[in-house]
Amino acid sequence: MAQEFDIVIIGGGPGGLAAGLYAARARRHTVLLEKGVIGGQISLTDIVENYPGIESINGFDLAQAMLKHAENYGLEAHYVEVAGLERAGQKWVVRTNQDDYIGKAVILTAGADYNRLGVPGEERLTGRGVSYCATCDAAFFKDQEVAVVGGGDSALDEGMFTSRYASKVYVVHRRDQLRASRVLQERAFANPKMEFTWNTVVTEVLGENEVAGARLRNTITGEESTLEVKAVFIFIGQHPNTDFLKGLVSTDEGGHVLVNDWMETELPGLFAAGDVRQNSARQVVSSAGDGATAAIAADHYISNTFRE
Ligand code: NAP
Repeated sequence: MAQEFDIVIIGGGPGGLAAGLYAARARRHTVLLEKGVIGGQISLTDIVENYPGIESINGFDLAQAMLKHAENYGLEAHYVEVAGLERAGQKWVVRTNQDDYIGKAVILTAGADYNRLGVPGEERLTGRGVSYCATCDAAFFKDQEVAVVGGGDSALDEGMFTSRYASKVYVVHRRDQLRASRVLQERAFANPKMEFTWNTVVTEVLGENEVAGARLRNTITGEESTLEVKAVFIFIGQHPNTDFLKGLVSTDEGGHVLVNDWMETELPGLFAAGDVRQNSARQVVSSAGDGATAAIAADHYISNTFRE
């Protein structure tokens, strides 16, 4: 069966929810498709403290408030998994594991997922000391010792952010050379709170209800050790949720969708916003801003293309 809408939004994180609010307030018949939990990454975030105007809120609660706000204006949320996307005449068909959805415009806000280490304790202690976002969680570890895993720009950038709060930041990297840019390397090496542990991988995150440490293994000597830290921040890259696009639209090497300032892709009526797009700032507020921009652009596109 196919259901028809003006705007189909793929993904229920802050970008999708803001797009839904703006699209619904523009009186566009709009559906938001979400395969899991509304909120995406923020639904896993214990406390959000950097959304302007809201000093502190649980991530799940913020997402629910955003959903209710948009639903009050007529947004529909359907819990289905998107399998593919095709152009059909002037419209788009979104294939899901249930119905097909036809839209005059589609906004991709499927987000991104942080790469996981895949070691014991990581999943269980996520939100309890295991974190993929220093901007979100560093403040909870004031005057504590923490570990940062990774050797790229994110690890150093977020590691240095973490050092504003933590008393010590151990950077655990699997090689003896960093991938991060020179400038960030110089700053990180000059930071007295940062200590580098080379040629080392985390084999287990320790702790019952909260992180108590990390089990390490030296990749050259095989020697095992335990690092007593209260948090393990993991920055080993991320992957946008764009597999279902199957090469339909241009992306960068990492799979992030290329858009212009109006969140327009190269294809008519197809927009992308938030972490799924290239150069996202990866914050709730920036994704929400992207979503609003995309919805405004989609509204204009529909008016111009369908001669209303
Ligand atoms: P990235 O550049 O892909 O770096 C990932 C790091 O994680 C690498 O050091 C990699 O080690 C390590 N790693 C990957 N898989 C691992 C595993 N299973 N176990 C242990 N370590 C693992 O990712 P990113 O740092 O998130 O950066 C992504 C993009 O965003 C980059 O283009 C970056 O320049 C950009 N970015 C820029 C800024 C900035 O300019 N301020 C800040 C953040 C991000 P190897 O080095 O051994 O491969």
